[in-house]
Amino acid sequence: MGDDTVFQVRDLQKHFPPRHRLAAGERRPVRAVDGVSFDVRRGEVLGIVGESGCGKSTLGRTMIRLLEPTAGEIRFEGRDLTAMSERELKPLRRRFQMIFQDPHSSLNPRMSVRRILEEPLITHGTARSDRRARVKELLDAVGLPADAGQRYPHEFSGGQLQRVGIARAMALGPEFIVADEPVAALDMSVQAQVLNLMIELKEELGLTYLLIAHDLAVVEHISDRVAVMYLGQLVESADRDALYRQPLHPYTQALMQAIPLPDPTRSGGHVPLRGEVPDPADPPSACRFHTRCPFAEDVCREEAPAFRQVRPGHRAACHFAERFLAQAAPMGCRSPRPGS
Ligand code: SF4
Repeated sequence: MGDDTVFQVRDLQKHFPPRHRLAAGERRPVRAVDGVSFDVRRGEVLGIVGESGCGKSTLGRTMIRLLEPTAGEIRFEGRDLTAMSERELKPLRRRFQMIFQDPHSSLNPRMSVRRILEEPLITHGTARSDRRARVKELLDAVGLPADAGQRYPHEFSGGQLQRVGIARAMALGPEFIVADEPVAALDMSVQAQVLNLMIELKEELGLTYLLIAHDLAVVEHISDRVAVMYLGQLVESADRDALYRQPLHPYTQALMQAIPLPDPTRSGGHVPLRGEVPDPADPPSACRFHTRCPFAEDVCREEAPAFRQVRPGHRAACHFAERFLAQAAPMGCRSPRPGS
């Protein structure tokens, strides 16, 4: 494990009890995360992108043990989180925190903002005399006035409330933040403001982010590296620019086709994303994307492709990734950035 690796995740699985019977009457667990391995480097923003239901939120929560993993290993600075009791984990919890999607539902409407920000400080034993000063610092850091502490969540706009959510995540001085769709519930006009605030705080405080989003424009705006998730597994990962310039997995290519382009004369390519995401309790055999992939051949239905390095720093789980690398012209379909 290199010095710059904060999190090391290996073959992580998170399965949930069966929700329903399959056509054959069988009940199988929902494999929300099903064998995911990756590293997060200190100071980077790793974007995790995929359609709704692909398991990305479950991955983020399991990684910091808000959910218990079914199997696999999670190392934080070399220490195995999966082997720790809740008591052993508590001092580490202040070092990794979470920003939730919808601040309206994640912040208690009966608490003042001051009380909301004090709550994690109380849990972790911060002295009363220090708490007031910390709340003031936090409000200042996220661009809210000091008197915001006296107000209640319903008195704020969505963008202001997400600033409160960010301030709460920062309360204990974490180093690693899981941001789960942090701007999905906000108007386009304020998305860029909140993302820019996250970038400023990252630079100022030396934070590392795992950014979970379904919107490729949001991920592109803020991420250094991007990993693409489909039906509980990673199918592609690369530096942001490499991935957006030349995606090598047909699923990533299809996601990029779905981005509306501001210029009607430009085309993003020819890989339409068709059909629905299959049931994660009954995923397709071999390559899980074969039921929706326009390039599927017999081998795709018979053999699971390895998630392997196709070029330096760029991994993909597709039998034909090398062929796409050799053939494909760069897509050049950069997404419109939030607020642009
Ligand atoms: Fe498509 Fe086959 Fe590649 Fe899967 S392995 S993404 S089905 S071409």
